[in-house]
Amino acid sequence: MRVRIDYALCMGDGRCCEVCPEVFEYDDAQTEVRLLQEMVSDDLRDKVIRAAEECDTGAIVLED
Ligand code: SF4
Repeated sequence: MRVRIDYALCMGDGRCCEVCPEVFEYDDAQTEVRLLQEMVSDDLRDKVIRAAEECDTGAIVLED
């Protein structure tokens, strides 16, 4: 599964970083969330899906 962030929708609340810090990291310098990996490993799949579900703006895009 591939993950990306639609920065036009992201409001930068960092919720995804709380749910899945292995994949999403808040970059203080850039004041935006960045991805630590784009191709999600199987063991993190469920956490990334949950992060996407909890993203209020739908900014997390998942592609199989
Ligand atoms: S949860 Fe969604 S809106 Fe919030 S920082 Fe993450 S990608 Fe952006």
